[in-house]
Amino acid sequence: MSSHECEEALDRLFEYIDHELPDDELTRIGAHLKQCPPCEAEHQINEKIKRMVARTGDECAPDDLRQRVLQTIESARRPQSA
Ligand SMILES: [Zn+2]
Repeated sequence: MSSHECEEALDRLFEYIDHELPDDELTRIGAHLKQCPPCEAEHQINEKIKRMVARTGDECAPDDLRQRVLQTIESARRPQSA
């Protein structure tokens, strides 16, 4: 696993999610996501955003949406030690 692979995976993330890549690239990036938690997290975030945008049809504030999804994931990931 190299940062170059991460760069490539993140670079193609949206095309990957939209299945706009050739099969071999889909396979390659899918394999990378599976073994690279940070990229997989990014993948999950963007899939969620895509689904939310698709549901609401509201594309005017993707940054807001992203922040909200990130916060949700952050709070889910970090167990509250109380
Ligand atoms: Zn990666």
